[in-house]
Amino acid sequence: MTKHVHGYAAHSATSELVPFTFERRDPNPTDVVIDILYCGICHSDIHSARNEWGWTQYPFVPGHEIVGRVIAVGTQVVKYKVGDLVGVGCLVDSCRHCHPCEEGLEQYCENGFTGTYGNEDKIGGTPHKMTLGGYSDTITVEERFVLRIPSTLDPAATAPLLCTGITTYSPLKHWKVGPGKKVGIIGLGGLGHMGVKFAHAMGAHVVMITTSPEKGEDARKLGADEVLLSKDPQAMKAAQSSFDFLLNTIPVGHDVDPYMELLTLDGTMVVVGAVEPLTKVSGIPFIFRRRTMAGSLIGGIPETQEMLDFCGEHNITCDIETIAMKDVNQAYDRTVKGDVKYRFVIDMASL
Ligand SMILES: [Zn+2]
Ligand SMILES: [Zn+2]
Repeated sequence: MTKHVHGYAAHSATSELVPFTFERRDPNPTDVVIDILYCGICHSDIHSARNEWGWTQYPFVPGHEIVGRVIAVGTQVVKYKVGDLVGVGCLVDSCRHCHPCEEGLEQYCENGFTGTYGNEDKIGGTPHKMTLGGYSDTITVEERFVLRIPSTLDPAATAPLLCTGITTYSPLKHWKVGPGKKVGIIGLGGLGHMGVKFAHAMGAHVVMITTSPEKGEDARKLGADEVLLSKDPQAMKAAQSSFDFLLNTIPVGHDVDPYMELLTLDGTMVVVGAVEPLTKVSGIPFIFRRRTMAGSLIGGIPETQEMLDFCGEHNITCDIETIAMKDVNQAYDRTVKGDVKYRFVIDMASL
């Protein structure tokens, strides 16, 4: 039934994404087969399609912000039935027996999780060595890695929650952001706009930290209480040692010292955007206020479900621009330029 799948693939680092037909495995007893309705465009899709991280194998089908309807289930599937609205994020497999997997922290699997695209497919059942992502009409995923989407949310605007949503929700929860905490969200893109929404919904005092006054005004509409312009040395100095927590979504390498100085005693800054060297890290801000810098990677399956349920309760989704599949290459160029508020989502009916 689902053998031949239509999607879009990159065939080299420099070629555009083009239509591509491939195979998914026949469903195993614990598999869920999903008719994909929407798939978000994550910056990681672009880095990977263009082999900017050096590990991409071609043909390459991106997409790990997937929302769709169940069209078939294996004989042992218990959580889902045909017709359910479900999601798939960045993970489709992990070892399931290491310490992090047993804790529901599959993203930190000691034996290496399987990403939804571009990772070795250890389940197999197709001619393809690597997993192929959600820019396609269907996907077959183990029940354990499938999420339930609250029926009250717009499915298109929910898709990016599966990556950009959980990437920001998880550290805010882990570091117990809530009422009485002053929280800075650094950078207003796909990640930053969700960071503002979540931190606001969790009851924190939210400050948008940005270079751009326009973005500051946009952040206020999303729930920020204040704006701190990082290019204003006076304002940065006045804000020193005042933040309990900083979520750093800057997508490229940068000097972290000016941000570290903003933290109060025992404050923490968590890096979620820059998957590259941070250019300058002085020991001084760490030592003088016992500050911490940490990182965080997406979230495990139980926490991703918790995040989706939280969004259902608080009516939180991403701000998106929906596009047709054929316009994906143009959307990539606009994403690289930061010309989207705040996430593109592909309507798979257009495939
Ligand atoms: Zn992503
Ligand atoms: Zn594991």
